[in-house]
Amino acid sequence: MILPGILTLLLCCSTQAPGNGLVTVAAATAKVPAEAVARVEAEVEPALRTLAPYFRAETAQPFRVVVHEGGDDLPPMLSAMHHEGSPGFAILSRHEIHLMLAEVAANGRGLRPVLVHEFVHELLDQACGRNGRRIPRWFHEGLAQALAGDTYLGASEEMIVWRAATDQLLPFFELEDRFPEGPRALAVAYAQSYSFVSWLVRTRGADEVLAIARAVDEETSLDSAMVRSTGKSTAALHAAWRDHLVHGSGAAWRALLSEFFSLSLVLLLPVLAVAMIRRMKADRIARDRLVRAEREEALAATAAAASQQGSGAVAGSAPAQPGDN
Ligand SMILES: [Zn+2]
Repeated sequence: MILPGILTLLLCCSTQAPGNGLVTVAAATAKVPAEAVARVEAEVEPALRTLAPYFRAETAQPFRVVVHEGGDDLPPMLSAMHHEGSPGFAILSRHEIHLMLAEVAANGRGLRPVLVHEFVHELLDQACGRNGRRIPRWFHEGLAQALAGDTYLGASEEMIVWRAATDQLLPFFELEDRFPEGPRALAVAYAQSYSFVSWLVRTRGADEVLAIARAVDEETSLDSAMVRSTGKSTAALHAAWRDHLVHGSGAAWRALLSEFFSLSLVLLLPVLAVAMIRRMKADRIARDRLVRAEREEALAATAAAASQQGSGAVAGSAPAQPGDN
């Protein structure tokens, strides 16, 4: 485990407000409520604490979080950097993180995983110093999701397990600089990155994975650093990960169950429709019976009243004759 060092000292000992001076939070426009900015500020320190064991302190330079109402409210220059539906993105060259409140709310898992995710981008870049820009995009997104314990854009291993089984995953070399544009391919890219880096962290440990990133320099790519550290070729690592994804992760079963559940619902629909028709028919019969019974009751009551009236008229027409006794 990497010693927390100065970053931890900053986090534990400083009394400055959010992020203890490491992170400042600001509203992008006057339309962003002060209460929303305060909520983000309150989550900065817990998010930093989550990451304190992973990043060296000497790389920690101040950075800022800019809070926007949502992706639709971004100015054109920032909008071009934003993937639709994503709750945040980092501009590493400016040490800036942009947070979209509407997308955070839509995600439904709160601010913290989003802050942890974006902080990983910033702190990983800082940890790798001037070679930070040589870290592939798939590694950045994979580590950010793995350490945040949450994915972006609904990405999941279930989403890619069949691709892995049929050799249709996106080649990692195509995910070095940028991710694909289409929403489906973009989610697959996030899912692959998450699955592979999570597997690396589980099998090699976070310390080794971060040491691999820090070993990147002008002559050493991340792939080379990974091969040197693990003693396995990139192809062997990818094959071992794919094998785990298909046979050991449980993703295939989860995907099957999910498909089965959807299929079951589809198959159940005619049964439900027949049951509903039967129920409606039964209701109609019961209602008709009730109406009939009420009508018969009314008729019976009318008949009884008429009969009573009849016997009263006979008694009146034959008054008792005097002396008949
Ligand atoms: Zn990210």
